[in-house]
Amino acid sequence: MTTEADVLIIGGGIAGVSLAGRLAGKAKIVLLEREEHLAMHTTGRSAAMFIESYGNAQVRALTQASRAFLEHPPEAFFAPILTRRPGLSIARPEDAAEFETFLADNPGIVHEIPAAEALARMPMVRGEVYTRFAVEPGTMDIDVHALFEGFRRMAAAGGVATRTRQEVLGLSQGAAGWTVTTPDGTFTAPILVNAAGAWAGKVGEMAGLGDRGLVPMRRTAVLIEPPPGVDVSGWMVVNDVAETFYFKPDAGLILASPADETPIEPCDVQPEEIDVATIAWRIEEATTLEVARIRRRWAGLRTFTPARVPIFEFDREGFFWLAGQGGYGMQTAPAVSARAAALVAERL
Ligand SMILES: Cc1cc2nc3c(=O)[nH]c(=O)nc-3n(C[C@H](O)[C@H](O)[C@H](O)COP(=O)(O)OP(=O)(O)OC[C@H]3O[C@@H](n4cnc5c(N)ncnc54)[C@H](O)[C@@H]3O)c2cc1C
Repeated sequence: MTTEADVLIIGGGIAGVSLAGRLAGKAKIVLLEREEHLAMHTTGRSAAMFIESYGNAQVRALTQASRAFLEHPPEAFFAPILTRRPGLSIARPEDAAEFETFLADNPGIVHEIPAAEALARMPMVRGEVYTRFAVEPGTMDIDVHALFEGFRRMAAAGGVATRTRQEVLGLSQGAAGWTVTTPDGTFTAPILVNAAGAWAGKVGEMAGLGDRGLVPMRRTAVLIEPPPGVDVSGWMVVNDVAETFYFKPDAGLILASPADETPIEPCDVQPEEIDVATIAWRIEEATTLEVARIRRRWAGLRTFTPARVPIFEFDREGFFWLAGQGGYGMQTAPAVSARAAALVAERL
């Protein structure tokens, strides 16, 4: 059976679903997801942070442009999406140059504070190891479920057809536009959006357009039990400016990552013991915390372009790239989806 549409979107993560939400009601849209459920890959595995100082200048601009939407989302987003969680960036003496660059890149967003003040706020950080500190008051926790579900509701209310268990196995182009083959049949549309996350390079190759240099990289996260009797709920997000680890509270536990970036073929990625051991070791080296029990561990694929900026643009003949969200796909989703939707809408 062949289903005809105006726009086919491949990928049911935040990228595909946020675009579907933005375009809903403007055209006949079908979203195709390989898995039984949406958001099973990178979107369901994030650390749920909104950090305006994170990433290069283009990423920071996209994050900052997303803030107003996240603070005042439309009605479809039932819950508040952001909760205040100030950030503390910490630097060792040997990382002074990175620390200076970080301050210079983020005027008005971060500011240096004296060591005594930083250590009074986060006394577990080892003052004999870390000597410079910067606060980012505007850092937030993101309610990823609320964000994703809001866009999904917008899409559903505007008539977007979401089809799960539809792995795109083949792509071809003809007079009717793009034809997509899945195990259940074929779908055609003049516009095809590649929002396939870690598989976006593979989908580009399937379309004969190459992979744009997209590289999926494994990142590991763990949930650590806090010391007995310690309430972590008011802790800041602590981030090493040399990007060797970060930690933050998460529902009574401590979420931590070794900030690993291991290039890997797209797959249902699982954590490696070495990365789990590395985060435990780095936390104990940087703080007075003892990593006695890890409750949960997981990994996800952050996919980067060579320039480490997301691509949202048309390629040949109605093929639209919405890929390379790296480690910022949740916090940049409002701005990226708005701009991507405007570009797609121009061709409807
Ligand atoms: C540990 C970790 C921490 C992170 N922390 C943050 C954070 O704090 N803040 C932030 O903003 N971002 C964070 N990120 C990054 C963020 O999660 C990603 O940028 C974002 O989820 C990417 O979304 P996506 O829709 O591109 O990919 P995905 O969510 O992976 O969605 C792509 C979808 O495409 C589907 N697909 C692929 N190929 C096909 C095919 N052939 N046919 C049909 N469907 C297909 C897949 O099944 C998948 O569901 C983090 C990521 C990780 C791993």
